[in-house]
Amino acid sequence: MPGQNPSATLRSAERATGVALLDALVALVGRRHVIAPDEDQEPYLVDWRGRYHGRAAAVVKPADTAEVAATVRLCAEHGASIVPQGGNTGMCGAATPDASGQAVVIRMDRLNRVRAVSPLANSITVEAGCILQTIQEAAAGVDRLFPLSLGAEGSCQIGGNIATNAGGTAVLRYGPTRELVLGLEVVLPDGSVLDRLHGLRKNASGYDLKQMFIGSEGTLGLITAASLKLFPRPRVSALAMVALPEIEAALELMARLRGVVGDRLASLEAMSRGQIEVIARHVPDVAIPFALESPWYLLIELTDTLAATDLRTPLEEVLGAALEEGLVADAVIAESGAQAEALWKIRHSVSEGSKRAGYVVSHDSVVPLENQARFAREVERRILDAAPEARVVMHGHIGDGNIHVLGILDAARYPDAAAAAPVAARINAAVDDVTAELGGVISAEHGIGQSNRARLGRVTPPAEIALMRALKSLLDPAGMMNPGKVLPPA
Ligand code: FAD
Repeated sequence: MPGQNPSATLRSAERATGVALLDALVALVGRRHVIAPDEDQEPYLVDWRGRYHGRAAAVVKPADTAEVAATVRLCAEHGASIVPQGGNTGMCGAATPDASGQAVVIRMDRLNRVRAVSPLANSITVEAGCILQTIQEAAAGVDRLFPLSLGAEGSCQIGGNIATNAGGTAVLRYGPTRELVLGLEVVLPDGSVLDRLHGLRKNASGYDLKQMFIGSEGTLGLITAASLKLFPRPRVSALAMVALPEIEAALELMARLRGVVGDRLASLEAMSRGQIEVIARHVPDVAIPFALESPWYLLIELTDTLAATDLRTPLEEVLGAALEEGLVADAVIAESGAQAEALWKIRHSVSEGSKRAGYVVSHDSVVPLENQARFAREVERRILDAAPEARVVMHGHIGDGNIHVLGILDAARYPDAAAAAPVAARINAAVDDVTAELGGVISAEHGIGQSNRARLGRVTPPAEIALMRALKSLLDPAGMMNPGKVLPPA
């Protein structure tokens, strides 16, 4: 209009679009299930670590697949981008919208039904908003195991687990989430529904399309349901925590235990002494069974489905011999379920304790198993060269090649991401260089999100990134699905 300020015109057009979209979303899912910008959107706009803070045109909670598809179509019509959000426990800001306020956050909470469970086929079909723990309980209800297990299992959702290809503490025996998925139902960016929930164990009929969405962090489509593998439920277990004189001993113990108990070896979780000190200091009610005199500690869990199996004897024998040889410095075997839980609590308190200890520059590298011990030694040396002010602690999944290396910085000196950025960049570069030199990649289970996009670009072959970009433009030509995540900045 003549005489009118062009940017004011643009702003009022944006407001009109926002209002029209809000009205349409309310008409679709009901007033109770839309949170407008002037309402309490806060919990959905910030990531678990509190690093990223975004804005949203709306937070919407559809009830089922049809409403998710209709929401996606509405967003496309109104030019809004979409940020899928599960339990919002992710580690890299992947579920947080950007600051533009143009995105619609789609929360999956109401898609929380268990659609089918079959002890015969050892499978369960669930909607994407099911909390992980609910699925574990549903499996236990038919005397089966859904093995995915991680510290956030009481609040993360299976859709988020699949979208991040989550790992956790049972990968050693059962594999990461990718290996637990039989089929998916996905709403594509054009609002159509890809229904491959059949749950077939064998399928050689062309490309395995579900794999594209596993680990895609909401950038290619919205997972609305999944068919998952179940396993026989373990009836006996034995748990030990051992103190180790060096990290190499963890791998040697793994080889010995596998030789004796085979795939009854379910979990092997290592923590450096510094990591346990951080937990002991910052998490109440955690009981550490040792004086912390060794550099590494290892949780070992054996399980079996046959109730009569004696797991304790082989565990004692392997650990007894290792103690005599000096491969193990000290060992505790849990005498009861409560003691086993108390030992697991140490491991499950890692993320919470570290978060409280300072500004954490965390890593999720995975290297070939034969290089894992070298990785742990070398990475600590290089971080301390690059950033002597960092406290280096580690925990990880021995047997998966995945050790999380944390550089913890003093919170008073480094209160936020901006203050920590230069030193964080030096720590990241040190870790990424060692990871690449030893044949690894920068994320095993947490994903890329917003935090690691530039790092992904730095260490990934250009041809691989080009193929990822081609896939993204094929499925999402308008770039509306979770923009600013995963792919490196152009
Ligand atoms: P969100 O954080 O909500 O989202 C994560 C990503 O998935 C985002 O990109 C989001 O857009 C996308 N997404 C979510 N739902 C959907 C959907 N339905 N369709 C498409 N995209 C979707 N992770 C591990 O791997 N191993 C661990 O051991 C582990 N331990 C943890 C311990 C604690 C205490 C905490 C807080 C986190 C831990 N995590 C761990 C990280 C986190 O729990 C996992 O990444 C989890 O898989 C995220 O699930 P979520 O539902 O919270 O997803």
